[in-house]
Amino acid sequence: MITDPRPRIIARRDEYDRSDKMAALSIPDPNTLHALSLKIESALSSESTQQAQSTCGSLLAEASGLFHVPRPKVRVLDARPLRVYETGSSELFGDYHEGTALIRVWMRTAIRKRVTSFGTFLSTLCHEFCHHLDIHGLGFPNTFHTRGFYERTAVLYHCCRGTPYRRLVWRPGHRNRWTIDWVQMRPTRTQK
Ligand SMILES: [Zn+2]
Repeated sequence: MITDPRPRIIARRDEYDRSDKMAALSIPDPNTLHALSLKIESALSSESTQQAQSTCGSLLAEASGLFHVPRPKVRVLDARPLRVYETGSSELFGDYHEGTALIRVWMRTAIRKRVTSFGTFLSTLCHEFCHHLDIHGLGFPNTFHTRGFYERTAVLYHCCRGTPYRRLVWRPGHRNRWTIDWVQMRPTRTQK
């Protein structure tokens, strides 16, 4: 997990900094989101793209109502597209189109075509919804990947998943970016 670089243009930098500082997201009714997420989990287990799409639609409709933003469209697709580079390849997990407010999420891996894990799928859905929320609800039209953006996504994800949220730990990366400090993020062992 790595942030976008802090922009050089002042107007964009101002938005970036505001997004970066906003780590909290208040969710008025977490139980409903959790219940709807469980339906996505069972849709994934049944391997039905149609059911996954309709349960994602219900979750996004509820989340949009909670945050008073228009409802985004959602499309659940089969195998992830593979992007091949000279140095390797990467899979596209999901994306968000600002003009049409369309969220796309892929539910199968690119090569083996296996159904993706619920955690990965839900985290992608929350990530793309947070782009929508940035633009339509929080006044961040450029929806930068800042530390705050990732924190807000994590709050939403853990609320949907019904798991406790832990603040992310960051360290400075290259060229005005921040990166997750995975060593610090490791759960501390309790001594017996
Ligand atoms: Zn993103």
